[in-house]
Amino acid sequence: MKSLTRPYGLMCRHRLTSLTTRASNLQQRPYSSNSSSETRTATPTATPTKKAQRQVIFSGIQPTGIPHLGNYLGALQQWKRMQDSADPETTDLIFSVVDLHAITVPQQRGNLKKWKREMLAALLAIGLDPKRCTIFYQSMVPGHSELQWILSCTASTGYLSRMTQWKSKLQLADDAHMLDDKAKSSLKHGLFSYPILQAADILVHRATHVPVGEDQRQHLEFARECVTNFNHAYKGKVLVAPETILSPTKRVMSLQLPTKKMSKSDPDPSSRILLTDTPSEIHAKILKARTDSLTPSLGITFDPIQRPGVSNLLQLLSHFDTQDRSAQEIAAQINAEVMGNHGGLGGEGEENPLRKLKERVSEVVQRELNPIREKYLKLLQEDGGKEGGYLDEVIREGARKANESAERTMSRVRRAVELGA
Ligand code: ATP
Ligand code: MG
Repeated sequence: MKSLTRPYGLMCRHRLTSLTTRASNLQQRPYSSNSSSETRTATPTATPTKKAQRQVIFSGIQPTGIPHLGNYLGALQQWKRMQDSADPETTDLIFSVVDLHAITVPQQRGNLKKWKREMLAALLAIGLDPKRCTIFYQSMVPGHSELQWILSCTASTGYLSRMTQWKSKLQLADDAHMLDDKAKSSLKHGLFSYPILQAADILVHRATHVPVGEDQRQHLEFARECVTNFNHAYKGKVLVAPETILSPTKRVMSLQLPTKKMSKSDPDPSSRILLTDTPSEIHAKILKARTDSLTPSLGITFDPIQRPGVSNLLQLLSHFDTQDRSAQEIAAQINAEVMGNHGGLGGEGEENPLRKLKERVSEVVQRELNPIREKYLKLLQEDGGKEGGYLDEVIREGARKANESAERTMSRVRRAVELGA
């Protein structure tokens, strides 16, 4: 039997590696903590604990378009690695296509159904196995919205108003207030209270670990606050506080506005690389990526503040680097290669360090995404978009398992709150 305790593999600086067996009374913490005791990133640490308990990994993605490189590196690639390394004896994996979240911003009729199906195909194409994981559409599991309502009765409006997502989705300043004129005219209650639904998504499955990109860190802190409020109000340990697991590539930036994160909902399609982009689309988008016009004699340098575009590309290369080199090391290596070939950093074409960097990024991204695109297209083609096809089968079975999981929590919650018969 494999390890009873570790939910998934250890992570070296840039990637997760597989598990090794441990004594069953040793709880191997998946990651060392960084700023918050409930948020973990890269370095593994081992801590003895009393008794191993069942671990539940939960995460979600909105069906607001085809997933991009940021979704992949910040979340989906971790989901797959966790699936491959977690012990089924001790760890459940639950992944949701969160369609109720997608309607917090207006959607064109017809899009949501299509995007949900495409998202499901993308999750299978990255290698998630529906026999090992529970994969489902959020709206097919009513426990999520029921728990959202219950949590909203103990959630603080003041806390919600300080969160940044509703402001960024409405393109308001970070210090905007919900009673400002602009917010009053455009802010809908669903968008404002979105973090409560997200907390319910996690808590209804008693998730212990939630792998997400950095933009979701704030929402996970809010989810823990919801647990504290609920357990305090109903005097019991009914809900479980989850840990945030951040990928080492916490935030992939937009290729066109590298001070903003890459997003599915960015109106500019050239701001993101889709998992389904062809090699020539990837190449064109990366060559067009906005960098800076700092003097070429500097070569390339890793400086996220002064040179966010160049740094974003360097970080991508570092993430995929087979020798696990840092962004700084890769920058130095490219500069040295150009100097060696050319005797200076200000060359043209292939001998320009920036061009060389872009060509390398394009190459490694194509190599990573090509098999995913091929599998995605095959899945959709074979399924033919038919009702009752393979994808429908996967989602029906996923909803069945997710409803069972949610119901286990909801029966405890209803009892604590004195709801139902
Ligand atoms: P939308 O624009 O509709 O909000 P999105 O691109 O932000 O879409 P989500 O569905 O909100 O994607 O997020 C899915 C997962 O991907 C989350 O875990 C989120 O933290 C992660 N993620 C999203 N964008 C990035 C990014 N640029 N870098 C790293 N992780 C990301
Ligand atoms: Mg988002």
